[in-house]
Amino acid sequence: MKKLPPSIIDFHVHLFPDKGFDAIWKFMETAAQSQMPYKFYYQEAIEYLHQRGVSPIVFSNYAHRKGIAAPMNEWNSQVLGEFPDLYCFAPFHPDDDHALARAEEMMAHDRVVGMKLHLQVQKIFPQDERLFPLYELIIDKGKRLLLHTGNGPQGNEFVGYAHFRKVLQHFPDLPVTIPHMGCYEFTEFMALLDDYPNIYLDTAYSFWPNLPFSFNLDKSTLEKYKDRILYGSDFPDIFLPREGEIDHLLELDLSDDFYQKVFFSNGKRLLARHCPAELL
Ligand SMILES: [Zn+2]
Repeated sequence: MKKLPPSIIDFHVHLFPDKGFDAIWKFMETAAQSQMPYKFYYQEAIEYLHQRGVSPIVFSNYAHRKGIAAPMNEWNSQVLGEFPDLYCFAPFHPDDDHALARAEEMMAHDRVVGMKLHLQVQKIFPQDERLFPLYELIIDKGKRLLLHTGNGPQGNEFVGYAHFRKVLQHFPDLPVTIPHMGCYEFTEFMALLDDYPNIYLDTAYSFWPNLPFSFNLDKSTLEKYKDRILYGSDFPDIFLPREGEIDHLLELDLSDDFYQKVFFSNGKRLLARHCPAELL
């Protein structure tokens, strides 16, 4: 069996203030009719990952409605202050007062990698022109966007490859990470990696085997794009054991180079690029 690097970077963790987690877990458990195994508040979640060799940890949260990005970002700044190996994708809502100025303030933090949009939850199309100033700012500041724009594991009319394609017509250089390997349109999102060098995919929710939203392309595609894939877990907002995805990836018996890059080097390179003030 293959081995992980001695320390791994998780590029897709969620941390919320306690009340935010309570609301999300309640919503998710009701929707799935199932109990979640890791209802850890932020400090416990971070400690749990640290004990399992995860560092740095890149977390995000999202603003499901107008008015909450600002208090959430205050909380994010405080949490970044508590843990020196923590990095953040900060939430944004285009209808907030001074939304752009606040995004700029957040991106001035040494360990803010960029901004996060969860379009399915926020009910905004990626090609909505209200987001264009944010895209310009992210490019201008050398930052990155974590963009939930795929239609899986759950979708609605605001997400899907066809919408995202329209963003690229205007912003072909936008540094963007597409979570969940682009689920369910794996083929389409992966093909973008050929033409858009600033796009990366993350593995979150895609590598538990034999589920409707499991990554279903040949493993040779994983080798082909191993420079552009980041390990991410969606921890602690998951229903199945966190190790299940890691074990499945190891069982695929890919090259040592694949595991080194996906679980560590690719993430490290992006952190150095988007957070150059941090000595890694
Ligand atoms: Zn997520």
